[in-house]
Amino acid sequence: MVKGDRVYDAMHKPGSFPELRKAVFDYASERMDLDPAPLDGPKSREELAQLAGQTITETGLGGLEALKLFGDVLAPATISIDHPNYLSFIPAAPTEASSLFDLVVSASSIYGGSWTEGAGAVYAENQVLEFLGSECGLPKGCGGVFVQGGTLGNLSALVTARDVAQKRLGRKRWAILASEESHSSLKAVAKVMDIEIVKAAAPTGSLQKPELLAALEGAERDGLEVFAIIGTAGTTNFGIVDDLEAIAQVCKANNIWFHVDGAYGLAGILSPDHRQLYAGIEHADSFIVDPHKWLFAPFDACALVYREPALARAAHTQHGEYLETLNEKDEFNPSDHAFNLTRRVRGLPLWFSMATHGVARYREAIRQNIALAHQIAEEIRVRDYLRLVRDPQLSVVVFERLGWDKSDYDHWSQELLDSGFAFVVPSSHKGRVNTRFAIVNPTTKYEDLVKILDSME
Ligand SMILES: *Cc1c(COP(=O)(O)O)cnc(C)c1O
Repeated sequence: MVKGDRVYDAMHKPGSFPELRKAVFDYASERMDLDPAPLDGPKSREELAQLAGQTITETGLGGLEALKLFGDVLAPATISIDHPNYLSFIPAAPTEASSLFDLVVSASSIYGGSWTEGAGAVYAENQVLEFLGSECGLPKGCGGVFVQGGTLGNLSALVTARDVAQKRLGRKRWAILASEESHSSLKAVAKVMDIEIVKAAAPTGSLQKPELLAALEGAERDGLEVFAIIGTAGTTNFGIVDDLEAIAQVCKANNIWFHVDGAYGLAGILSPDHRQLYAGIEHADSFIVDPHKWLFAPFDACALVYREPALARAAHTQHGEYLETLNEKDEFNPSDHAFNLTRRVRGLPLWFSMATHGVARYREAIRQNIALAHQIAEEIRVRDYLRLVRDPQLSVVVFERLGWDKSDYDHWSQELLDSGFAFVVPSSHKGRVNTRFAIVNPTTKYEDLVKILDSME
């Protein structure tokens, strides 16, 4: 900066913009008061260019003006994922406590990569990871890190798994094995790791032992070395859990890493009525679950937990002259457990909300989501113009409108969004178009789901 120039000072000096601080807090507070927030929807690039114009300029718009632009133009061009009738993909429904604490995390400049810098926050995050580990039956000493999302969680776990296998067996034609209904991120992981992915058939939606063994034998015949089998604990399309007990047995018998991808559905283990669906997960070497999906936390967070975190450190710890002062200490550095270095303490919003409300309310909210999914599935079953594609297990319900083609679904879906009532998009299964309700929001009402079914008549 030029000497005497006060712009630099004002930009960083606390309290220089009191009006702006108040306006931003008011905005956040008003957004949290909306019950519900309008669903809203996207606009084209051209429309936005017209409405918002050029926002990055040499002199700046001023904070109040930029905030107004966000509130009037940009925010309404984003869909409110926490709307009760946002039922597509996997929604998110953060608790108010978790959203509030996200603001605190933003205001606190905490570096979550190392114990030295983030100890207090890392302690709190680790309590949540230990809780999740113990819910899954992993022994004391399990642990890991909150990473950005399930894709990165799966990658990090599988990099650790291959590291373990490679130390034992040297270089091989490595492969991972998962069901044909597993998530697309596994294929993306295989691509960046330059390994193969072997898919086992899952005719009922759930990976079972005979298909698993057949796929493993097929991989061997092809000269592939399977170093990890991934059990999906709640497929994204159908919310169905693999036979984790069978996968655990096969992994144990063949000295293969057992990873559970529970990005969406593992949260269901918190419901006492549904915990038995996950039997076998206590044998997992690693698992993931996304708080931004079904643990009522804001974007973006994936809890990655290892049975033996030391194996992850061996695979992931970064070394560099400026970092060794951290590595020399015998301390728990979250970043050493995944493919990342600098990290936000993104587990803290979940920690705060769980610490605030207690776990029992989480168990009940999740149980109710599942109950609602099963209730609406019954309604679908009795309507003669609808067909339930599969019985739901968790909180995803997939169904067809008989006689509709893709363009009928597209048209109907667009009308629902344009009317501001609901966001439900087409999906498909084995080439047949369908649609689905993914229910993770405790404020979703049965009556509204029925209205959506009515709109398809
Ligand atoms: C959503 C999902 C992922 C990917 O998680 P992101 O947080 O979107 O990266 C992986 N696996 C399953 C089963 C999922 O549902």
